[in-house]
Amino acid sequence: MKLLIVGGVAGGASAAARARRLSEDAQIVLFDRGPDVSFANCGLPYYIGGEIVERKKLLVTTPEMLRARFQLDVRTQSNVESINRGAKTIRVRDLESGREYEESYDKLILAPGAAPLRPPIPGIDLPGVLTLRNLHDVDRIKARIDQGVHQAVVVGAGFIGLELVENFVKRGVATTVVELQDQVLPPFDKEMTTPLLESLNKRGVRVLLGDSAERFEETPAGLIVHLKSGRQLPAPLVILGVGVRPENKLAVDAGLDVGPRGGIRVDKHLRTSDPDIYAVGDAIEVKDFVSGDPTQVPLAGPANRQGRIAADNIFGRTATYRGTQGTAIVGLFDRTAAMTGASEKTLRRSGRLFRKVYIHPMHHAGYYPGAEAMSLKLLFDPATGQVLGAQAVGGQGVDKRIDVLAVAIQAGMTVFDLEEMELAYAPQFGSAKDPINMAGFVAGGLMRGEHPQVDLETILAAPASERPFLLDVRTATEFTAGHIPGAVNIPVDELRARLGELPRDRRIAAYCQVGQRGYIATRILLQSGWEAANVGGGYKTYRLFYPNG
Ligand code: FAD
Repeated sequence: MKLLIVGGVAGGASAAARARRLSEDAQIVLFDRGPDVSFANCGLPYYIGGEIVERKKLLVTTPEMLRARFQLDVRTQSNVESINRGAKTIRVRDLESGREYEESYDKLILAPGAAPLRPPIPGIDLPGVLTLRNLHDVDRIKARIDQGVHQAVVVGAGFIGLELVENFVKRGVATTVVELQDQVLPPFDKEMTTPLLESLNKRGVRVLLGDSAERFEETPAGLIVHLKSGRQLPAPLVILGVGVRPENKLAVDAGLDVGPRGGIRVDKHLRTSDPDIYAVGDAIEVKDFVSGDPTQVPLAGPANRQGRIAADNIFGRTATYRGTQGTAIVGLFDRTAAMTGASEKTLRRSGRLFRKVYIHPMHHAGYYPGAEAMSLKLLFDPATGQVLGAQAVGGQGVDKRIDVLAVAIQAGMTVFDLEEMELAYAPQFGSAKDPINMAGFVAGGLMRGEHPQVDLETILAAPASERPFLLDVRTATEFTAGHIPGAVNIPVDELRARLGELPRDRRIAAYCQVGQRGYIATRILLQSGWEAANVGGGYKTYRLFYPNG
């Protein structure tokens, strides 16, 4: 068996190593047009910031190590120019010597990744407008900062954009981030990104939402970014982080099927429309695990797993890729945001029915020093309770909860399963009722109709005359510090004695800080003859939607 692999980083290197573990006899050749293979793309921003000090740590392995351990024929600086499917050969250009040659294959794996998008706007090719994908890029960016650049503009507030912002700020670079959407981290639901925006503001990052770069201009005074709004940002360093596009040229030229957004089409065994060619990683179209729809999700975990699966299938094991959930996480200063599965906006876009709950637990027992708050949003099917998606933002413990929920989604679990989950607990690690259990209790209660809950957005979207009577059951001090406009304050502990102050002819929406006291108040009101509901997630959820009150 002669296996050729195009692309030697996440998907390609995983496939190559797996292939060798499955076959000592195979001839395995790994091509990459760059000078490195198997480098840590995900670590690049932290090398700029100085967290990763030694450049060589970014090289997870080297061509020499791959040759020694896995007997791989690693050819760097080798661009694969074309595929001849009929002859089962590829054409390779050695970028150092310029020599071109052909190489035959029995099986071919395409793992060429995705390239940063460079929209066709004037000045996009100016030398100061950079993108970040590999070590060459990181060297250029780091050199600028080492030379003393004090100002930067990051266009795009996605995962890579925000990681760069954090690391620029760490290096003392005054940074502006420009984002077309009206929120940072567009894959998340907007309200869940409020704490990130606050964190950026606190660190002095200028965040321009709902704006975009229209033109880049080199002037005698330096580079200027012209925004659609008319703003002009002088910036010696500009980074574009506006997304990626699959590197599909080889596949398209060879007549392989690609999806409407350019991802190489593969079956569940990661075989392309040519049975002798497999494709993995950022270059492919995958099945969305929740919706089943085709999508593209450029993440390292899926690319690595797909590499293994492709090799398994080539060497006689039947392995199936289940689809991609989009489980992702980002750290931003002291905040962590993570998500898995569907977001509310993707569910709305697809017209799928859902319910949601918000909870705001501490990451471990509140009485144990160092507990940090998080906000967790859970989306689930209204008929079955099946978990569809989750997002969390906070400090410590966010990663663990999203990972548990990622497993729940993959296992097809329901909110009732979350109620029953038995998770590791000691006070410094979690709570006897873990945030996962709590989310399950709230969602399970809703599903069973145990207590009525009303969404804040539903209340606030209704005309004033149709809104329920908003009852704030927190303490007077909490109420004074901030409340939902129009609310009346009766602390929950005084509620039984002060029921006479409530209108008999109106529905009551009770809220507290996170939902717990609102739930108790709702129970009191229901049993006293009122039509009442608890405002899901309480005042903390309100502040996610309306951070300025
Ligand atoms: P790549 O890793 O991009 O490798 C493709 C390789 O193929 C490249 O080296 C390319 O030069 C080579 N190639 C392409 N075409 C040819 C050709 N014709 N001939 C020869 N060689 C070719 N994901 C996460 O999940 N978490 C993170 O924290 C995270 N952080 C990231 C941070 C940065 C700065 C970047 C850039 C990406 C990050 N990612 C992260 C995404 C993750 O790195 C990618 O999803 C993953 O690397 C994709 O693997 P791949 O094998 O498909 O492509």
